[in-house]
Amino acid sequence: MRIKIASHSGFCFGVKRAINIAERTLKESRHTNNTYSLGSIIHNPQVVGDLSKKGLKVISGINNIKKGAVIISSHGATIEVIEKIKKKRLDLIDATCPFVKNVHNIVRDLKSSGYRIVIIGDKKHPEVKALLGLVGREAKSNKIAVISQTTQSKDNYLKGVAGLLKKDFSELRIFNTICNDTAHRQALTRDLLKECDVMVVVGGKNSANTRRLWHICKERGVDSYHIETDAELKEEYFRRKGCAGVVSGASTPDELVKKVVKKIKELNLKRKRGK
Ligand code: SF4
Repeated sequence: MRIKIASHSGFCFGVKRAINIAERTLKESRHTNNTYSLGSIIHNPQVVGDLSKKGLKVISGINNIKKGAVIISSHGATIEVIEKIKKKRLDLIDATCPFVKNVHNIVRDLKSSGYRIVIIGDKKHPEVKALLGLVGREAKSNKIAVISQTTQSKDNYLKGVAGLLKKDFSELRIFNTICNDTAHRQALTRDLLKECDVMVVVGGKNSANTRRLWHICKERGVDSYHIETDAELKEEYFRRKGCAGVVSGASTPDELVKKVVKKIKELNLKRKRGK
């Protein structure tokens, strides 16, 4: 069995930046024992686990926090939460990805120009929650603007836009806010799907962009497995397969991908010997 690995893997720019910010903050003596991350700083349990060992405390709210630094995750946070942190005079450390921030700016501009803003994305995801907070009360306007969660798939986005075309509007503005890294990983996944008959998608089960890659594989009808670590791999996944493709999400460390590839090779060898 051949193994094909996507040519682009490892942390994206925004994830790398958020991890660096967290590590820097943890090293500052005034933040010893009181560095918090509001939600998972990135959506990868293994990386968050490593940061926790270095002292980062993941919290779901700031009500019980009296002092220290609160890091906003790469996905951003609602204005309400940011105001609360400032009001409590906690150190606000903003690790929001600049590409996510760019979408915030687009929303602010559209709002001040009176557009009704449609967001295509997962309502429960922190990035979308923050955007919804910026949109506020829905404007009664027939000028519509549509934006996407940065990790949305192009196909989903286009479907959403097609639905909007059927509505009544005087103007419809479409912004492509899917980040380049996301689009690139999705394109590489589609390429591998042309030659592989089994796909392994590596990344946090809570990672939106990783789950999206897995859905792309499933939609093609190819046997696909979303795993977080090599320990989840099973020999039967590769039985009677000619080519295994390996892709990973934007918050998956390179080392995890390497371990997964090593394990697939070992399983392959074991299977050959057992024949
Ligand atoms: S996937 Fe894109 S938007 Fe999200 S953190 Fe990475 S670079 Fe930023």
